[in-house]
Amino acid sequence: MTTRFIFITGGVVSSLGKGIASSALGALLQARGYKVRLRKLDPYLNVDPGTMSPTQHGEVFVTDDGAETDLDLGHYERFTGVASRQSDNVTTGRIYSNVIAKERRGDYLGATVQVIPHVTDAIKEFALSDLTDEDFCLCEIGGTVGDIESLPFLEAIRQLSNELGGERSLFVHVTLLPYIRTAGELKTKPTQHSVKELLSVGIQPKILLCRAEQPIPDGERRKIALFCNVKPECVIPALDVDTIYNVPVSYHEQGFDEQVLRHFDLPTAHKPDLSRWKTIVERVRAPEGEVTIAVVGKYTTLLDSYKSLAEALAHGGIANNMRVKLKWIDSQVFEGNEAEATRQLEDVNGILVPGGFGERGTEGKIRAAQFAREKRVPYFGICFGMQMAVIEAARSLGGVPRATSSEFGASDQAVVGLMTEWLKGNRRETRVTNGDLGGTMRLGAYPCDLLKGSKVRAIYGTDHIDERHRHRYEVNINYRSQLEKAGLVFSGLSPDGQLPEIVERNDHPWFIGVQFHPELKSKPLAPHPLFTSFIKAAVEQSRLV
Ligand code: GLN
Repeated sequence: MTTRFIFITGGVVSSLGKGIASSALGALLQARGYKVRLRKLDPYLNVDPGTMSPTQHGEVFVTDDGAETDLDLGHYERFTGVASRQSDNVTTGRIYSNVIAKERRGDYLGATVQVIPHVTDAIKEFALSDLTDEDFCLCEIGGTVGDIESLPFLEAIRQLSNELGGERSLFVHVTLLPYIRTAGELKTKPTQHSVKELLSVGIQPKILLCRAEQPIPDGERRKIALFCNVKPECVIPALDVDTIYNVPVSYHEQGFDEQVLRHFDLPTAHKPDLSRWKTIVERVRAPEGEVTIAVVGKYTTLLDSYKSLAEALAHGGIANNMRVKLKWIDSQVFEGNEAEATRQLEDVNGILVPGGFGERGTEGKIRAAQFAREKRVPYFGICFGMQMAVIEAARSLGGVPRATSSEFGASDQAVVGLMTEWLKGNRRETRVTNGDLGGTMRLGAYPCDLLKGSKVRAIYGTDHIDERHRHRYEVNINYRSQLEKAGLVFSGLSPDGQLPEIVERNDHPWFIGVQFHPELKSKPLAPHPLFTSFIKAAVEQSRLV
């Protein structure tokens, strides 16, 4: 393996967009013909983000191989199209649990187990694992330099860089130049301090990516170079952009990828073709029109909790040359308030009920599904949103008046229930009712057969798909006849016919519920067909009103 490693750290403050910066660099290297892989090393103690609150930490991104990961992996996939794997995200919690398991097994042969070398070795092992012919592996270190938790990771990448040598490793540090309005100046001091902090753990960054809301004057650039011991051309201005999809083009114009290649002594004369990114940016900036989609969910206080969803809807817009305006609605506002539901939903062009967990707010989501069905507004139910639409149909039209999900307690009419066994390939997977919260879900890619003549069959243009899952409960196939009576068509099923994966209505312009998360696979350069089709339906709806 001759993979080169680029370690990306962040300083000054969090939320600097390190994830997007790493993704954009990945895309730029790809555009120059290199094979890339992106990884995230997260310093928190959770073993994985699966049990973290989406309103605190943002969405949990799921990979094909069923890993519950940090949302930055979603950015990586969207920008590079490279499907992430379990081996692309690790946390302190996982590192420690592996080290401790090894210690308990006696693998350390009685040695005193310590952060250096045992924990740092485990981190290095992770960074080096599961790579084959990649030209570059970009490792983003979560958190901010100076955090106590980051120390073992910084030490590990310092060691790794020493072992690989400069010709196979590079440190990029993302910082912030705050603009002080009263002085009318961008300040370089926080960047100097943050680099000093890195130097104190033995890391000399070679490239500084400086986030700023104003252009960085040349004098300031030289000053940063001087104080931080980097070349002036390696102080890359990373100015705010109007759309994240402009980041690759913008960073390229500032010479980011060129400096990276120069560091590795790779040719730079041949410029990358970024026309595909430019087209996307143009479409985002000057769409032909606009549609409004109501997203009726629960975690509407932190929009990062629906990151991939918001992106996938935007991709659907890009595919239709439309701007997609999102109206985030907390489903609880509809509960016991018919008038509010009508007021909030009557002017939207599509309704989407996304994934979710727990009973709170579900009656409001059911109300939203009913509104969409009755008023013929395009409806897209994703995972929980499909389950809510099924419950609504069963109650209103299927003769199952107490239809519910066993997620909310025991019931004699659990139209949505816990499946304790299913097939994955030839293997039988099982789960238990009271298992660990983090380990009982149907996770990752599963196959699904599409019904001939169905809407989804036409949308996908194929009869067999693979989509990613993250849920515990399933629509109960034993209610099939009641649900069909209620107008639902079972247009997608697991190959063994046991798990309903997609339901749709053929008495409605666009009403589709999917048990999986299509938003996880949508990319700006390849919008997901369901989102493209949903937005198209919303455009058609907007022409009716
Ligand atoms: N709470 C539901 C389940 O576990 C739906 C999960 C989701 O929407 N991701 O099945």
